[in-house]
Amino acid sequence: MEQKIQELRTRADEAIKNSATLKELDEVRVKFLGKKGELTSLLRGMNQLSAEERPRVGKIVNEARAQLENLIAEKNSSLKSAQLEKKLATEKIDVTLSGRKIYAGHLHPLTLTLNRVKEIFVSMGYSVEEGPEVETDYYNFEALNLPKDHPARDMQDSFYITEEILLRTQTSPVQARTMERHKNNEPIRMIAPGRVYRRDDYDASHSPMFTQVEGLVIDKGISFADLKGTLEDFSKKIFGEKTKIRLRPSFFPFTEPSAEVDVSCVMCHGAGCKVCQGTGWLEILGAGMVHPDVLKMSGYDPAEVSGFAFGMGIERIAMLTYGLDDMRLLYDNDVRFLQQF
Ligand SMILES: [Zn+2]
Repeated sequence: MEQKIQELRTRADEAIKNSATLKELDEVRVKFLGKKGELTSLLRGMNQLSAEERPRVGKIVNEARAQLENLIAEKNSSLKSAQLEKKLATEKIDVTLSGRKIYAGHLHPLTLTLNRVKEIFVSMGYSVEEGPEVETDYYNFEALNLPKDHPARDMQDSFYITEEILLRTQTSPVQARTMERHKNNEPIRMIAPGRVYRRDDYDASHSPMFTQVEGLVIDKGISFADLKGTLEDFSKKIFGEKTKIRLRPSFFPFTEPSAEVDVSCVMCHGAGCKVCQGTGWLEILGAGMVHPDVLKMSGYDPAEVSGFAFGMGIERIAMLTYGLDDMRLLYDNDVRFLQQF
């Protein structure tokens, strides 16, 4: 038995030494130490030995196993480091090659347009106010003179979370919230920019999510002439000095009187073209004098103060200033498109 073990050791040592790859070494391990390996079957043969001999032979077999395992582990690590050295020698990195260029991004055309609009109003002394995009029915509609059964709600019915909570359909609730924070007919001059949500289809000129900027001015003696002057000044600053504006009577529940505001076409300057459909004018915003009921609801006294409000879509302004014919370009995030700005 001992002789057999000795002879097995000699053959195993030799085989380990001659293994040239990790795969060969593993085959050697299986051949001698595996479940059906030679050393394991020697152990099984031990039941033929006498009871006195068993512990002694068992010890020799276990020693042989431990030694072989050590030899295999040593050979394994030397094969691995040889393999690594070979890899390092063949796969040299050329540190003289030029690196990959890192491209710096820039602001999105919508953000650029919004920033420009903010700049213009801030330069006129307006503050920039913000409010929640998830809004209560009260602030989104009721505080703006739109009770629950008002037909004008249909034009902008939105995404309701519960009966009383919805994604805001306009940034007007920020006006109501700002008015409530002011007491004693305190003057306000503010814009409220932000995302709004409506149940609109997604096509070249509509999106269920868009960006709005609304403005509100309240003070003693604010008149329709102030509104017109402000919008004219804004239009010249954003579309160019030669821009003219035109007001058409309209209806909004929260303003009285109300108007749709057009600017002379930014493409043809009034001559008539495809963009303005031959009219020479482009509709860009809605405006009006704040309805006395809206003032009252937010704690202002319509006998003491008056105000005007206006609202515009930033996508529309961006499309006109950059000459885009499809609003979806602004949301596709195609880098080839965005790189042009
Ligand atoms: Zn035109």
